[in-house]
Amino acid sequence: MSEGVYNPYVNAQAQFDRVADIIGLDQPTRDLLRQPLREYHFLIPVHMDDGSTKIFRGFRVQHNDARGPAKGGIRFHPQETADTVRALAMWMTWKCAVVDIPLGGGKGGIICDPRTMSEKEQERLCRGWVRQVAKNVGPDADVPAPDVMSSSKHMLWMLDEFETITGGHYPGFITGKPVGMGGSLGRTEATGYGVIYTLREALQDRNVDIKGTTASIQGFGNVAQYAAQLFCQLGGTVTAVSCWDNVDRKGYTFQKKEGINVNELRGITDTYGGISKEKARDLGYKVLDAMAWLEEDVDILIPAALENQITPDNVNKISPQVKMIVEGANGPTTPEADEIIKQRGIYLIPDFLANAGGVTCSYFEQVQSNANYYWEKDEVLEKLDTKMTSAFHAVNDLAKKSSLYMRDAAYVISINRVAQAVKMRGWV
Ligand code: NAD
Repeated sequence: MSEGVYNPYVNAQAQFDRVADIIGLDQPTRDLLRQPLREYHFLIPVHMDDGSTKIFRGFRVQHNDARGPAKGGIRFHPQETADTVRALAMWMTWKCAVVDIPLGGGKGGIICDPRTMSEKEQERLCRGWVRQVAKNVGPDADVPAPDVMSSSKHMLWMLDEFETITGGHYPGFITGKPVGMGGSLGRTEATGYGVIYTLREALQDRNVDIKGTTASIQGFGNVAQYAAQLFCQLGGTVTAVSCWDNVDRKGYTFQKKEGINVNELRGITDTYGGISKEKARDLGYKVLDAMAWLEEDVDILIPAALENQITPDNVNKISPQVKMIVEGANGPTTPEADEIIKQRGIYLIPDFLANAGGVTCSYFEQVQSNANYYWEKDEVLEKLDTKMTSAFHAVNDLAKKSSLYMRDAAYVISINRVAQAVKMRGWV
């Protein structure tokens, strides 16, 4: 959501170019894959509660749909930019390809701040977004989902508008719907659990028993909570988590050397993943600086809060004990810090592999919605585990065989799969 110094699209294209060089991708395929196939930019007039009319700007970008319908969330953010949406759409293409689900990459957005809008204004905005793109999206073309500041209630309004326009029931048009209204069981847990499925496999591959390992996590929101929960269930110990404090406008780390209790901490955490400092102290937690989580003497670091967190300024504060980094968040490591992690020989499971559990479960939701038949939670999680485990091993095996850094190996697999699809279709 930022332009200027950090432009995620420039970053996404640079990552692509690097791997295109490694695999010797031909020029037409490069030209096709380093930018979006289609983009829709439009205005959404919304009647506000005070009688005025406000004009919002919306986007939908379909980076590539050679492997299946485009898939990706819709962000609501005041600093949303076309380049952010382009980058995120591109990353969705690679994410769907690395877990080998038959979907392409898309992303949408609206420049807005839902925190300052009434429910009715938000509903009109959601319906307005769908009216502008209804003919270009759909269950067999492009399937949106929630993202930053958009939620299941927004998805249901969007679905309702789409069904009103098209005159039928098409629950597979959108994912992230509430359970009971076309949503999938297991979606809440999916991303955090997926992070731990990949970690579990990486440890097994190195003959390390997960029992007795320690981890420190940045964040205590959706991804971090479920990652912590499953890691502890499997016998690991989380010694620290961190969160953003919206009153103090800064982050804090909550440390308990003998191990945090996830349920106890959840009980004192708000819906935005903010932990009460006072209550945490009463429960025996040490409250430390925002980035203290990064300096913990643990075996595993799991950044699961936001992008641009491990930087050249702090990467050398990572303890020599750390053997693995599993990126739960999107883009938590800057390219410069990534180089240092690589040189230090820390094993890294990259974001678009580690956190692909979310989109994988969204795909399951779409399949269930299209069939109008819904699975039990155990079935969803079992299928998720199978997908994540096999994706992990494909990347890990390639990394070992070709002496590649895990991030590069994941990109090689994704880009090759999409390149093969565009060639087989005869596009290039
Ligand atoms: P969330 O909003 O539920 O939680 C974010 C957590 O990070 C909160 O605990 C918040 O307090 C904390 N945080 C924010 N700023 C911080 C700071 N400066 N220092 C320390 N903590 C801070 O979000 P989420 O859904 O858990 O997503 C986390 C990351 O995972 C994001 O990068 C997101 O894009 C990525 N991701 C999420 C999903 C998903 O299904 N939720 C899927 C793929 C990727």
